[in-house]
Amino acid sequence: DNHGKKAGRFMLKLSGEAFAGGGGLGVDPDVVHAMAREIAAVVRDGAEIAVVIGGGNFFRGAELQQRGMDRARSDYMGMLGTVMNCLALQDFLEKEGIDSRVQTAITMGQVAEPYIPLRAVRHLEKGRVVIFGAGMGMPYFSTDTTAAQRALEIDAEALLMGKNGVDGVYDSDPKANPDAVKYDALEYGEVIARNLKVADATAITLCRDNALPILVFELLAEGNIARAVNGEKIGTLVSD
Ligand code: UDP
Repeated sequence: DNHGKKAGRFMLKLSGEAFAGGGGLGVDPDVVHAMAREIAAVVRDGAEIAVVIGGGNFFRGAELQQRGMDRARSDYMGMLGTVMNCLALQDFLEKEGIDSRVQTAITMGQVAEPYIPLRAVRHLEKGRVVIFGAGMGMPYFSTDTTAAQRALEIDAEALLMGKNGVDGVYDSDPKANPDAVKYDALEYGEVIARNLKVADATAITLCRDNALPILVFELLAEGNIARAVNGEKIGTLVSD
């Protein structure tokens, strides 16, 4: 099935780590370009795409806290890191001939629009990709939660969670356990009860409470963004 519609509106969550390529830190333009090409293809086919990108390739608040920094301040650093990912993606979307807008939860008028949900929806209707930066603008939240919240507010039909190096949800860590079994489908309750690595608990409960389906899939496999948008059976679908 096609999540119910032909080409609908989707929230695409991109792993920040993936943006670093092999490097681990910063942005690998080749990876971002590949991602932009795939997004451009689905937009040309009529899908409305909103994007949230993680920030793990720059800073994670919790990690900086462990090394002695104030949590809230390091979370703000984490949020600012996500904006660099947004600008990189915007640049390559432009090179693909796709219009886009970055909207940030922390205002920075020189580089992005402020987060204005109704305007975001208008952009989407005009075929522009909307990239949401700086998370929720609040410490102690994640970009997963941001993706879930923005998806709900712009009325996306599904949250497509592109992961770095794993093609779905497993019953144990597939990198540590060669016998780990992948789920094709899961209920929200199972994800929470078994503490499965889909997203943080805040994001999962938000999706559950509002019946927003989550598709977890491997981001870097070529063609996977189109497969996710077209409702092909890849990855793991989390729903009621
Ligand atoms: N962050 C935050 N509030 C948000 C979104 C992100 O404080 O609404 C910070 C947090 O410090 C996080 C970092 O930004 O570690 C990067 O975001 P991401 O969700 O990618 O974190 P990760 O999952 O990589 O830890």
